[in-house]
Amino acid sequence: MRYSALKILKEGLTGNKGWKPVWREPEPKKEYDVIIIGGGGHGLATAYYLSKVYGVTNVAVLEKGWIGSGNVGRNTTIIRSNYMLPGNQPFYEMSLKLWEGLEQDFNYNAMVSQRSILNLFHSDGQRDAFVRRANAMMLSDAGAELADAAQLRRELPFLDFDNARFPIKGGLYQRRGGTVRHDAVAWGFARGADMNGVDIIQNCEVTGFHIENGVCTGVETNKGPIKANKVASCVAGSSSRVMALAGMRLPIESHVLQAFVTEGLKPTLPGVITFGAGHFYVSQSDKGGLVFGGDIDGYNTYAQCGNLPVVEDVAEGGMAIMPMIGRARLLRSWGGLMDMSMDGSPFIDKTHVEGLFFNGGWCYGGFKATPASGYCYAHLLAKDEPHPNATEMRLDRFISGHIIDEKGQGNQPNLH
Ligand SMILES: Cc1cc2nc3c(=O)[nH]c(=O)nc-3n(C[C@H](O)[C@H](O)[C@H](O)COP(=O)(O)OP(=O)(O)OC[C@H]3O[C@@H](n4cnc5c(N)ncnc54)[C@H](O)[C@@H]3O)c2cc1C
Repeated sequence: MRYSALKILKEGLTGNKGWKPVWREPEPKKEYDVIIIGGGGHGLATAYYLSKVYGVTNVAVLEKGWIGSGNVGRNTTIIRSNYMLPGNQPFYEMSLKLWEGLEQDFNYNAMVSQRSILNLFHSDGQRDAFVRRANAMMLSDAGAELADAAQLRRELPFLDFDNARFPIKGGLYQRRGGTVRHDAVAWGFARGADMNGVDIIQNCEVTGFHIENGVCTGVETNKGPIKANKVASCVAGSSSRVMALAGMRLPIESHVLQAFVTEGLKPTLPGVITFGAGHFYVSQSDKGGLVFGGDIDGYNTYAQCGNLPVVEDVAEGGMAIMPMIGRARLLRSWGGLMDMSMDGSPFIDKTHVEGLFFNGGWCYGGFKATPASGYCYAHLLAKDEPHPNATEMRLDRFISGHIIDEKGQGNQPNLH
């Protein structure tokens, strides 16, 4: 079933009786060419590109809950490619380009909205760092624009430019950045993969790996054993737990990150705005709610709910740049499990076990990476070699010293 304006018109005139479920609910087969563990954005995107671009269709995505129940449906929906390091910038730019054509590609409305992202700066030193980053962005055609305080005063008069501690001196715009409706991304990729023959199996938890003589031959699940030539882990915040089942210890910690939404307001924020002197990012959803977040809670956990000190810290960040946010009533908040790597950058790599692959370490930034992560992971699974834009996302980079420390913070997950 393809979606089109004509189809909507026809269904509207005939009682909307022709809409069908957009993916099947198959029972797992005994054997697949590729098993993907985790039906989040990255797992589903991997299945989609594997089947569409690389022609590998005998694929199952095993999801322990339901599609969209993980971080893909919990994030603050921001997409951007304003990175600096060579190991990151081309990859995230590839992702932004894929976002730009995604809805036409998988024929699904994911509400991709390039409403811009603005990173505020508050000191001369921070401005210099942003100029450097802008130059790196321009080298990969990502687009970058520096705005001074006078321009921002005209465009965003509600910001607190003269805050005594954190005066706003300007900002770095990426006009192509913005937001995407997060759960529609999961549904769109699921639908596209299913149409290409991929089995999406919900309520199917992987509980172990079959590894013989250093070769992975399949997985154990709550629906029984399933064989596969290749097994690809893609479980984000559960990475450490799942890979421990294969005897692996990862350079990843799991933390909780919270998000918040206010009551619906009239259109106020034109795009995404981030605070440069603390951790706070905000955009306005199409329903009018201000959607915002800040730091991880800062302790290791597998719980998907957070604590009050971070609520206070995030609220302070919001008040520091736009005091009028204090008048908005908070409607709801939730938490998601972050796979925080030690240098803040992800992994898309083979493991030391033949036939077992790993994708994870996405920290707070994995939503924007979803299409490129799926594409590059599919490339690795199909061709047995890394995609040219993901060659540095290696699992052994902490042994060889080739870390990708975008912020220069060192091995401290809570600072990335
Ligand atoms: C509050 C919050 C805000 C965020 N904001 C942003 C943002 O604005 N921009 C951005 O780029 N990123 C953001 N992120 C990060 C982003 O959401 C994640 O990095 C990304 O979604 C992770 O990839 P995923 O979608 O595949 O993960 P998930 O959706 O979590 O998918 C992993 C799946 O694996 C399944 N699973 C786990 N264990 C098993 C098992 N044993 N067997 C089978 N399945 C299993 C889980 O149920 C889950 O569905 C945010 C995250 C949070 C929590």
